[in-house]
Amino acid sequence: MNKAIAVLIFSNFLFVLPSKTILAENRPVDLLPTEKIQRPLPFSQVRLGGELGVRYTAAVCNVLTRTDRYTPSSFAASAAAQPGALWWDWPGDQIGRWLSVLHIAEGSLGCPSAAAYRQTVADTIFPLQSKDGNFGLAGSLKSDDARIPSGNAFALRGLLDAYADTHDSRYLESARRLARYFEAIAPDWEKRQNGNLHEFYGHCLDGLVALYEQGGDAGALDLAKRLGKNATRTQHTHHSLSLCRGLIDLARVTGNKDYLEKAEDYLSWCRENQTVSGGLPEEMPRSPQDEGCALADWIVVNAMMFQLTGDERYFDDAEHTLVNHFFMNQFHTGGFGHRTFSQEIIGGKNWQGWDGQFGSENPGCCSLWGAWALGQISRYIVTETDDAISVNIFSTAEIALPERGVRLAMTGDFPRMTKARVRVECEKPQSFKLALRIPPWTRAMIVKLDGKPVETPKGDRRVVLSRSWQDAAVVDVEFVNELRVIPWPAKEPKGVGVFDGPLCLGLSSNAANLDLAWAVFVNYAGRPVLDPQGRLHVTEASGKAAKTLDPINAQWLTPDAKDPARRRILFQKRTFVE
Ligand SMILES: [Zn+2]
Repeated sequence: MNKAIAVLIFSNFLFVLPSKTILAENRPVDLLPTEKIQRPLPFSQVRLGGELGVRYTAAVCNVLTRTDRYTPSSFAASAAAQPGALWWDWPGDQIGRWLSVLHIAEGSLGCPSAAAYRQTVADTIFPLQSKDGNFGLAGSLKSDDARIPSGNAFALRGLLDAYADTHDSRYLESARRLARYFEAIAPDWEKRQNGNLHEFYGHCLDGLVALYEQGGDAGALDLAKRLGKNATRTQHTHHSLSLCRGLIDLARVTGNKDYLEKAEDYLSWCRENQTVSGGLPEEMPRSPQDEGCALADWIVVNAMMFQLTGDERYFDDAEHTLVNHFFMNQFHTGGFGHRTFSQEIIGGKNWQGWDGQFGSENPGCCSLWGAWALGQISRYIVTETDDAISVNIFSTAEIALPERGVRLAMTGDFPRMTKARVRVECEKPQSFKLALRIPPWTRAMIVKLDGKPVETPKGDRRVVLSRSWQDAAVVDVEFVNELRVIPWPAKEPKGVGVFDGPLCLGLSSNAANLDLAWAVFVNYAGRPVLDPQGRLHVTEASGKAAKTLDPINAQWLTPDAKDPARRRILFQKRTFVE
């Protein structure tokens, strides 16, 4: 690129950066390879259907129809840090998450009540913002309570989501006052974690970057860059991954790859401690339970890393957690929460707040953030580059690409994933590439274009259909899947996980005593042995009892939030002698 101009085009913004630039660090900065950037779609261009649509709608309704739970007075309590909201002692937290959920619900579901909800919240909270700019008690500047900056960081992001939705300057001015609070307390928090950035404070990064992007506040970006340099491996998984979202935003806006390397370092630490189902502990590196919020952020962070790097491994990780551990974490209410976490057995009862009235669901944060993540991931089902449309998740969905005059009607059996169909409709003839992701969990992907077989490349991660498209064309995809076992954890296996296509299989405590030594039989080639009916069994040590396995995500509509079933996900492996 000898003209030294790199153009980064994102959904709403255009940045022009020299390909080598000198940032505040006074050294040349390695910039992102712009040709790899995948543009996610605006919410309004995606209509989800199928299982993902049902789960997303259930998650959003569980928030927006619960006006008995999220009352106007509860927002006042969140703004003033007074009892009366679920997490009232994390000031601003409910306000910010709620505004961010309204942002995705209005964008992708066209939620007609969003404007009225937002107005009610705004009228309630603005008079309660303290003179220092924060929500919560006046005089909090010197407080060492980490919950205060954390709740306010969600508020900062939510206010900017509301400003993006309304262009009402009250949200922007409120966000600016809040940013001044973060600047004032920065010296107390930017090196508080053993000389590094405290994650409860540090996840204000995404709000600061949004303030720069939407309000043009250069000081907010300078503060974010200063804070981002001190980011490191920190314990609380959810807040650390929220901080990573801010690091990726910083990389996107500045073009500086250093921020991405910090995010990648955190993700690599997470990967070392994940379950075979894609789950994460609430606290790194170990915790007796997971957290819906952390799983939500994990999925979104990986999707954002895919956006900036084009590296398929990030999307593989996002999809893996989405269809397995995250779907398992969702309750029949549509909400998310905390379930027991260990390498062998997941899913059971542990922390239950508010005297157990919501069971293991955590409607104070996880139910809000889970809904938000499902909305965010909808933008990545299909992504774009200048000359290609990439299909990344084969979920039932209607995709509109009005600037091209193209529409994709996608159907299939997601998340079971045996087949999918993409109908491509064009208003006028045109050339582009349709790049279909070849998922790592399939043995083979058979693609037909208008009934004629298409050659699929060996060892590549995309089937690319490059042609002149006109009127309507139908792309049929068949996934040739097989049962397989995966030793886990990868470094020192304690057993094997069992997978059918993308789906992690487990044994439910409703069906069996999970504490017995359950084993799966494999043949000499290491493949699971099926019975004459084609079913996979696990057998306990005495050989007397045999049980079939189900996908761990399958029972989400069972109303057991108060005492959720456990699920064994690791099994012993025995070689079957024929
Ligand atoms: Zn949570």
